[in-house]
Amino acid sequence: MEKQLMLINGKWIDSGSSDYIQVTNPATGDLIAQAACASPENIEEAVRAAEKAFPSWSKLSPAERADYLYKVSNVILKESEKIARKLTSEQGKPLKEAEGEVRGSAGVIRYFADEIQRTYGDIIPQKEPHIKSMVILQPIGVVVAITPWNYPVQLLAWKVGAALAAGCTVVAKPSSQTPLSPLEFLGCFAEAGVPAGVINGVVGPGGKVGEILISHPAVRKVAFTGSTEAGKKVMEKCSKGLKKVSLELGGQSPLIICEDANLEKAVKGAVRRSFRNMGQVCNAVNRIYVDRKVYDKFMERFIEETKKLIIDNGLENPSANLGPMVSKEALDKVIEHINDALKKGARIAYGGEKPEGKKYEKGFFFKPTILGDVNHDMLIMREETFGPAVGVMPFETIDEAIKLANDTKYGLAAYLYTNNVHTIRRVCQELECGSVGVNNVNVSTTNVPYGGWKESGIGRELGREGLKEYMQTKHIKLEFFEVEK
Ligand code: NAD
Repeated sequence: MEKQLMLINGKWIDSGSSDYIQVTNPATGDLIAQAACASPENIEEAVRAAEKAFPSWSKLSPAERADYLYKVSNVILKESEKIARKLTSEQGKPLKEAEGEVRGSAGVIRYFADEIQRTYGDIIPQKEPHIKSMVILQPIGVVVAITPWNYPVQLLAWKVGAALAAGCTVVAKPSSQTPLSPLEFLGCFAEAGVPAGVINGVVGPGGKVGEILISHPAVRKVAFTGSTEAGKKVMEKCSKGLKKVSLELGGQSPLIICEDANLEKAVKGAVRRSFRNMGQVCNAVNRIYVDRKVYDKFMERFIEETKKLIIDNGLENPSANLGPMVSKEALDKVIEHINDALKKGARIAYGGEKPEGKKYEKGFFFKPTILGDVNHDMLIMREETFGPAVGVMPFETIDEAIKLANDTKYGLAAYLYTNNVHTIRRVCQELECGSVGVNNVNVSTTNVPYGGWKESGIGRELGREGLKEYMQTKHIKLEFFEVEK
């Protein structure tokens, strides 16, 4: 049985409390590893190591830190297959998808290494000609990065790439469901020669290990991705020490399809964003609003294309479209949302059950599911399902579509398919969310800020804004004297 150790102060460390987390493969139910769980002493050691490493790491020039990160990016690419296999075996997504996630994460590290070298402050003139205000950006200090299981490597890369480039040091805590691939990923930083203590990785339950980390007085910033419920607890804890916090939380993203849309492109977008990673994506499409005039045609083609998705064990069939869901709890929530909709009058247009066959028996497999006759009393149209189920509803006017799209506490992303430039302007203006995809469904882009409105979060990741989340501003007021001639 593989034993996964933690990375603390440049060394691989076993649990100080003999506590282990059992890691299983969601495609087979097999136990694949035991991950060492952090004791309070392990946590203390990790935070103190990050604190000790901060002065020298933060004093390196941006170019020097970038050199380290370019090396890290190359090591990740070299190790990508190994990391991806761990990712698939603990999370379930098909191997090709996992490889894409890992290679993309190497690109994110490289992006922040580039971006920090063009991150400038300001020199602001004052009314007296001999006085200038210099505004500089400095790293905030020790960062705690807490991440979920759906994109365990990518969401860690967004945080540690920006934090390390900015000059911060990090203690990362991945999800207990998927600790293997994130720790393998963090090992690449050590292999590339990043000094001991600059990056540490510990494992353990959020309510215990996560909360101890957040409350530690040496921590100055918390970068969190997870559910809205947990995000609120994290924010409460951060308020005690007035720590900077960024929260990337849940979503309930709508897709609006207008009469004049390119229907084939809209169908392709709907299939990808509703079901990719088994709908376990923060910006997944949960609900689709289609102009009544093209509703039937859309439904017909949406079902046809969804039926073509290949579901399989992602290690045995690396090119499958879909794997299992991550856990029984995640699958149970999808079934609960479907049953709630059926009770309130919805009908299953496709799916709604486990696929048939021996290979699906043990894992958390489920068919991608399309529901018709839905309304906004149903959980599926308002709460985050975080699974492969989507409700499709006709609309009469664009006003109605916008109102329905905004009828949720979430505000992460939304999607619109239309060829009318006036509709694009109006709808993009009025949607209450952090990102809008127009005629596409891919809104998380490395060099662009990403994050939510309303209960989907606070702060931004990626892009210049994502880097500045790890920096604080200092004003230096300079008065110059007349130099004698
Ligand atoms: P989760 O909130 O249960 O856990 C996320 C992480 O937070 C885990 O590492 C967990 O151990 C930790 N945690 C939980 N409670 C904590 C607490 N009280 N204090 C400190 N840490 C705590 O979420 P999950 O089930 O792992 O992930 C799914 C959720 O993540 C979904 O709601 C999804 O929308 C969200 N998500 C959001 C984004 C985004 O960018 N907005 C991206 C991916 C996932």
